[in-house]
Amino acid sequence: MPVRRPRKKPEKQIKIAKERIAILFKKAEEEFHKNPLLSHRWVQMARKIATRYNIRMPKEFKRRFCKKCFSFLVPGKNSRVRTNPKQQAVIVKCLECGNIMRFPYRREKKKKI
Ligand SMILES: [Zn+2]
Repeated sequence: MPVRRPRKKPEKQIKIAKERIAILFKKAEEEFHKNPLLSHRWVQMARKIATRYNIRMPKEFKRRFCKKCFSFLVPGKNSRVRTNPKQQAVIVKCLECGNIMRFPYRREKKKKI
């Protein structure tokens, strides 16, 4: 008997997808010094998975790839990371395409009044 599939992706699949994304980023990290082009491909795959499952990129990976050219970014290699206290943000520049990304500092906890 065919199993009816619910429209929303089941939790289990989402969990697997998230794990896959983590693995792909780990691979990209390991592979970068040997084959940067392959790293960029892993990132693109991770993005595809995230899109398909409607998953937001985990915070720890957001700064690790360029939003414009989807290159895997390694600070000091193909990206430059600066903090800008005036803008209250971290500035990441992709040296592959020159794209500049801004990540505002997040206030994790609200001030208690
Ligand atoms: Zn780029």
